[in-house]
Amino acid sequence: MKNRSKILLIYTGGTIGMIKDYKTGVLRAFDFDKLLMRIPELSHLDCEIDTYAFEDPLDSSNMDPDHWVRIASLVEEHYKQYDGFVVLHGSDTMSYSASVLSFMLENLAKPVILTGSQLPIGDLRTDAKENLITAIEIASLKKNGRSVIREVCLYFEYKLYRGNRTTKINAEHFEAFASMNFPPLAESGVHLKVNHQYLLPTSKKPLKVHKELDNRIAVIKLFPGITRSVIAALMLHAEVRAVILETYGAGNAPTSTWFTELIEEAIAQGKHVVNVTQCSGGSVMMGHYETSSHLKRLKVINGKDITTEAAVAKLMYLLGQGVGPKVFKTIFETSLRGEMV
Ligand code: ASP
Repeated sequence: MKNRSKILLIYTGGTIGMIKDYKTGVLRAFDFDKLLMRIPELSHLDCEIDTYAFEDPLDSSNMDPDHWVRIASLVEEHYKQYDGFVVLHGSDTMSYSASVLSFMLENLAKPVILTGSQLPIGDLRTDAKENLITAIEIASLKKNGRSVIREVCLYFEYKLYRGNRTTKINAEHFEAFASMNFPPLAESGVHLKVNHQYLLPTSKKPLKVHKELDNRIAVIKLFPGITRSVIAALMLHAEVRAVILETYGAGNAPTSTWFTELIEEAIAQGKHVVNVTQCSGGSVMMGHYETSSHLKRLKVINGKDITTEAAVAKLMYLLGQGVGPKVFKTIFETSLRGEMV
């Protein structure tokens, strides 16, 4: 009994926490205090589960930095008492939340696993039970008294991913997420298979929770025909401190003089410009084509194989940390939580 893992289940909102009233057909929020009663399978798990529910459950489209601070603070406050944390979250922005939490929770030595579902937990064909049960099972895994998973992950449809490597790719299929540039950390089949070789190395330092996030950033997705005035409006906006340029293929962009000059001007104003590919897989290779040599020459930050979600998270985190202009590029281009090569 004494070796059973203790898990804190945090319900932030999303489809997973809803049940259908079969009389009216309406979806309503689930009473999390009755969780064990509603999902008796949970009591068969070899762990103790406590729950904490946001009193105002969110559709994850309403997630914002204040909510991230709330989740990170919950982990911080309960870090010593629990062996792992499972965060129930709407799937729409789950990859952003997983990415940002990975940066906020430095030296994490316990699992923080985000999960959700495409169908409500009360639906007959729900994917919620499997996602929830396996996420808790994985969060409970221990070896020699220590948690096996020690990072922020996302569990969905039989796969555990590094959270900051994921993207929501499907609004319909149960397989809603992909991690195109990094293999799954664990797979659930007849057996639970943990791919130990891909887990982050353990940190022996104490948990440090960073709560300062600066959201004065912009994402500009290039498309053939995008005009100078549209890019200028975002890139040179007085409030914007950093811009993610979603470029083509291996980090390529127009070579027109106006485009190059705009980037030059933004950088001269002290803004950070990051090159992230709009492809879902693969990496930016600045200088590989003529259409990216100008970006390399201008010292645009190389986003390598980072997802846009993780780039957003990393920018908010680094700006929030007040990282200075001299080292910003070097730090961004360094993998801090396994978010890039
Ligand atoms: N719109 C919902 C949300 O992200 C979808 C879901 O829960 O999967 O909150």
